[in-house]
Amino acid sequence: MLEENQTLDNELNAWDRDHFFHPSTHMAQHARGETPNRIITGGEGVYIVDRDGKRSLDAFAGLYCVNVGYGRTKITDAIAAQAAALPYYHAYVGHGSEPSIRLAKMIIDRAPKGMSRVFFGLSGSDANETNIKLVWYMNNVLGRPEKKKIISRWRGYHGSGLMSGSLTGLAAFHNLFDLPRPPILHTEMPYYFRRPDRSMSDEQFSQFCADRLEEMILAEGPETIAAFIGEPVLGTGGIVPPPSGYWDKIQAVLQKYDILLIADEVITGFGRLGTMFGSDHYGMKPDLITIAKGLTSAYAPLSGVIVSEKVWRILEQGSDTYGAIGHGWTYSSHPLCAAAGVANLEVVDELDLVKNAGEVGAYFKKALTDAVGGNRFVGEVRGEGLMAAIEFVRDRDDRVFFDAAEKVGPRITAALLEQGVIARAMPQGDILGFAPPLCLTREEADIIVAATKKAVNSVTVTL
Ligand code: PMP
Repeated sequence: MLEENQTLDNELNAWDRDHFFHPSTHMAQHARGETPNRIITGGEGVYIVDRDGKRSLDAFAGLYCVNVGYGRTKITDAIAAQAAALPYYHAYVGHGSEPSIRLAKMIIDRAPKGMSRVFFGLSGSDANETNIKLVWYMNNVLGRPEKKKIISRWRGYHGSGLMSGSLTGLAAFHNLFDLPRPPILHTEMPYYFRRPDRSMSDEQFSQFCADRLEEMILAEGPETIAAFIGEPVLGTGGIVPPPSGYWDKIQAVLQKYDILLIADEVITGFGRLGTMFGSDHYGMKPDLITIAKGLTSAYAPLSGVIVSEKVWRILEQGSDTYGAIGHGWTYSSHPLCAAAGVANLEVVDELDLVKNAGEVGAYFKKALTDAVGGNRFVGEVRGEGLMAAIEFVRDRDDRVFFDAAEKVGPRITAALLEQGVIARAMPQGDILGFAPPLCLTREEADIIVAATKKAVNSVTVTL
């Protein structure tokens, strides 16, 4: 049996290296066998298990998505029951399945005030493509075809498609792909720690960001700017909560020039910040909201655009003039994914996970700060709800960053994995990111913190 397993392991490893094109992976190193290939086989609660039987605490919930944790049979049973009853039917021309309709209602019941419809997709990227198309469609219906530009932020993350990848403000996702494409623009990121000038207060920095946005709008011409997109808390760009007053000041500028707000809540939707939506947390009043990840806790791929009544009215007007909207995916509101979504949101309610994310999140951030905040290479410990990050610097007084070649972040992440805890080395900078399942307990938070302290100390003593 052992021998058989070993043969299968060898085969899987070889097939993986020879045939599987992994996303966001160094292709040549992987093919040469220089990067780890870890095959995950199971999970329970906040833990995953790999083929070698190694158990790890997943402090990143997959990719900030397995919000209810692994092994929830309520969700897997719901998917199986739906598959047996009806695996698929499309949603075009008014068709649908019961779970899709039920899920749309559940989302609107939970969404911020003023939202009225849900368009379903499969990924955060395709939902943001939908957002852009809806904004353009809307301005064409309104007879202002020049109002099409969309402003995003540097270090924002909004996906990997052609336009959603353009919205993303990270060089690693643009380089060699000829992105970003017009008419996408990028403005100042609300990332105080990365600013060379630290004389501003939080509020002043928020005003500075709003002023930069207004300057861009005026330079481009307000009649050309259709929408602004932002994550309530910057995610992949470094897990950075905004400075106080940021969203109020940004929204005041948008209102002044009749520019729509798209809240990308792919990470923050359904509880991660301790409120149902990040928009609730920061007093944002979006016209469109992007959702994915926490909608099904990734038990099945599903995303959506939540459309406000204000935008919906114009879309309706468009169809009265021009006919049915020519936009849709074969798998829009796929019944298996919708069934997963319904069961997932029920689990979120039953276990009171939104409240838990707020309470355990606050506990976790304090414990992390107490554990590593004193280390002289720790520049900042930050977070909101169950999103947290530690940013490492060579010199915290003068805020000198490490050379990327030193790989401080990746080395600490690897040391942490050796302790049995998965966190994420964020793509730009030496930033250790955490986004555990929302069912995390205080005891599990303590395990992450103790392992992090050990990992941080083991690497920083060598610096
Ligand atoms: N928006 C945000 C805020 C995200 O974090 C992500 C994925 N991490 C996306 C969009 C894109 O989602 P997907 O990878 O499902 O296309």
